[in-house]
Amino acid sequence: MDLFEMAKIPLETAIKKMKLDPGAAAIIEQPERTLEVSIPVKMDNGTVQVFTGYRSQHSTILGPAKGGIRYHQNVSMDEVKTLGFWMTCKCAVAGLPYGGAKGGIIVDPAKLSKRELEMLTRGFIDRIAPIIGEKMDVPAPDVNTNAQIMAWMMDEFSKIKGEYTPGFITGKAICMGGSLGRTSATGRGVMTSVVEALKTKGIKPEEATCAVQGFGNVGSWSAKLIHDAGLKIVALSDVGGGIYCEDGLDPYKVAEYAAKNKGLIAGYPGTKAITNEKVLESKTTVLVPAALELQITKKNADKIKAKFIVEGANGPTTPEADIILEKNGVMVVPDILANGGGVTVSYFEWVQNLERYFWTEEDVIEKQHHFMVKAFKNVYETSKQYKVSMRVAAYIVALNALAEPMKLRSMY
Ligand code: NAD
Repeated sequence: MDLFEMAKIPLETAIKKMKLDPGAAAIIEQPERTLEVSIPVKMDNGTVQVFTGYRSQHSTILGPAKGGIRYHQNVSMDEVKTLGFWMTCKCAVAGLPYGGAKGGIIVDPAKLSKRELEMLTRGFIDRIAPIIGEKMDVPAPDVNTNAQIMAWMMDEFSKIKGEYTPGFITGKAICMGGSLGRTSATGRGVMTSVVEALKTKGIKPEEATCAVQGFGNVGSWSAKLIHDAGLKIVALSDVGGGIYCEDGLDPYKVAEYAAKNKGLIAGYPGTKAITNEKVLESKTTVLVPAALELQITKKNADKIKAKFIVEGANGPTTPEADIILEKNGVMVVPDILANGGGVTVSYFEWVQNLERYFWTEEDVIEKQHHFMVKAFKNVYETSKQYKVSMRVAAYIVALNALAEPMKLRSMY
């Protein structure tokens, strides 16, 4: 089964539960537009290499399509279509006036020189320029793309348009119109989801323990802010393996250690080395998968001891694992709710760019908290109303937000 078909399984359950009009369901089940482009780049050795890139706009029903651009050798049309679909649902759950999109280029950027990377980035924007813009489709960073790449993209698009266009892209450096609070935003939203999930069972943060898989942007900020919220972090991992300490870890100190250790946390003093699999199976109250897709599967779902899984990563749990976890009474706070803090602050960046008026970090944090708590409560109440998992409930919330405008616009 391809990723897009797998991603639609909980959507189809939601469609049945809420008895969504088949016309609306048919529209949601496919992207509005997927563009494939060829990008020629003159390499440093004088040869010309042609790269393949994609931009998939899943939906513009609620507003401009929104979603990142990734550079990876495994990028495919199936992957960008799936990620664009998740973005539509994530933005709708978060209550943002956005649709969803995703883009990518099939490339291992580590194999390119800085000049080649810049040429590839500018070439990609030239190719997709006809379908993007601050009122049509607003890209952002994703895997292997960063503020430097956003700066080249914004520069190229501004040249094409003949005007300064900071609102066409988010994830920019602060000096180019980026928002304060963006770096920690996804992890902050994960932390808010953890605290809200514990509240539903009357558990205080100080009574809970937590394991986090992945120690990149999402994992490290989730761990730091969950620690600040009062939970004891007992296990962490990254691509180099896991660390465990029953007495609790200080993720700020682990991050300082990793910065001096090629970015890896293995060998952090006072901890026991454990495998990545064992981190997922740790005896904790909360598990935060914040690394990759497809980590919790039918093979290990029964071994998960956490009572709450809060998905920092996109798609870490397979549909088969979902069934096992639900049977075992584990509350899974789904990706399209739990990691929506990042796109929420991207939305704030876009609003600030359109207004040319910038907010303080306190403003950003307070507004993000308001959006996340509202979204969590909405999904939780929907799960009670329809007697469904939080994942299916999140899709019902998204579909409800999309269905009414579709009907009023007579789209089906
Ligand atoms: P990142 O590249 O900064 O970090 C990824 C981390 O995962 C690294 O610490 C890496 O060592 C670790 N990792 C890789 N393979 C692993 C393995 N087998 N076991 C354990 N750890 C492993 O990426 P990120 O931005 O933190 O994104 C992580 C996930 O969160 C992705 O699924 C991404 O799509 C999703 N996400 C990110 C954001 C964001 O704002 N960055 C927003 C929403 C969702």
